[in-house]
Amino acid sequence: MGTNLSNSGSKTQLLNATADNINLAIEALKSGDVIGFPTETVYGLAGNALNDEAIAKIFLYKSRPSFDPLIVHVAETLQSCTALAEAEIIDLRTMTHDQISTCDQLIQIFWPGPLTLIFPKHERVSELVTSSLPTVALRAPAHLVAQKLLRQSGLPLAAPSANQFGRISPTKSQHVIEELGAQLKFCLEGGECQIGVESTIASVNFRGEVSVLRPGGLSLEILEKHLGKLFQGLHTELGLPSVAAKSPVAPGLLESHYAPRKLMLRIQTDWNETELKNLYRSLPKNLSQVTKVSILSSFPLPFETQHIIRNTFTQAEFFSLTAEGNDSLTAARNLFAQLRTLDQSDSELIVCELPKSQKDLWPAIRDRLTRASKKYWTP
Ligand code: AMP
Ligand code: MG
Repeated sequence: MGTNLSNSGSKTQLLNATADNINLAIEALKSGDVIGFPTETVYGLAGNALNDEAIAKIFLYKSRPSFDPLIVHVAETLQSCTALAEAEIIDLRTMTHDQISTCDQLIQIFWPGPLTLIFPKHERVSELVTSSLPTVALRAPAHLVAQKLLRQSGLPLAAPSANQFGRISPTKSQHVIEELGAQLKFCLEGGECQIGVESTIASVNFRGEVSVLRPGGLSLEILEKHLGKLFQGLHTELGLPSVAAKSPVAPGLLESHYAPRKLMLRIQTDWNETELKNLYRSLPKNLSQVTKVSILSSFPLPFETQHIIRNTFTQAEFFSLTAEGNDSLTAARNLFAQLRTLDQSDSELIVCELPKSQKDLWPAIRDRLTRASKKYWTP
């Protein structure tokens, strides 16, 4: 039963995903508790989407504002709009034929996987999950442990990332313990997340056209390739219907998110002398003598660039998301763990660059780095 893999000082039990432990997790979920579990994107904090009490715990443990709705995870066996409606998770009545047809196509191709779709919600789904929106965001995760949990429990599971709101997302079980160890009873072990950034969120309009509201683990080109003319591109401004004046205008698009505790600044264009000097001059007084700086780039920086950076930050240390010749998949998988390591290191400041490529998972990485960093220091 409860194999306790690591429990130094926290009360969370890290459980291997044995059949017994999955049953234990399902019992906890059925009784309205919340648990940590692995998905292929990031580790989630799961609760029964039909149970208000469970959902209230998710918001409480994460200190997440109630206006930010949750994504609901479903079993991969629910492979069509009809199946989702029969499971009483979505309401087909207000969906058009074209909308259903595009959703079915996307579900069949991309589920299980890192694609979240927005549907009219069934009344059974807790209003707390959707922040009172008439729609619900759904995805079927591909991670085997998540799938077992969903299939065997038969429950739709609301699950945001298992971290404190606004902080760096967890891609290893140890991160979940670091973030929520004081509150959580269980976290199921699932190894390192294979994708490492959150899902791509898309909405399908009445004509069956698809807009991406948040870039994520499924690339824009792949969606475009399958959808052709129905693909409308990235439209983060469409986002959420406004539920409150302070509600985010688009999914996950609150300005500061995924952020280290330490100050993290980003360069605007390039690692050039002028930009670095401007950035240095913008630093607060307590950092103006800053010595140790972590420099985070997408690829290893050439020696000449390192030299330019050291003219401003004499003791810069260099880190990159991936090695030369590697792709955005590796960079995405490393991103949050790398940010966490830099946050815990003895450097006083992190300075990053934003990837420029519009291909593969680079837009998702750019989005997360933008939200994790500031242009200049501001009080
Ligand atoms: P995460 O915080 O990564 O779990 O992603 C949740 C994001 O999904 C939130 O930032 C929401 O804004 C977005 N989301 C959830 N439900 C909806 C919805 N009904 N319509 C649009 N976006 C949604
Ligand atoms: Mg999150």
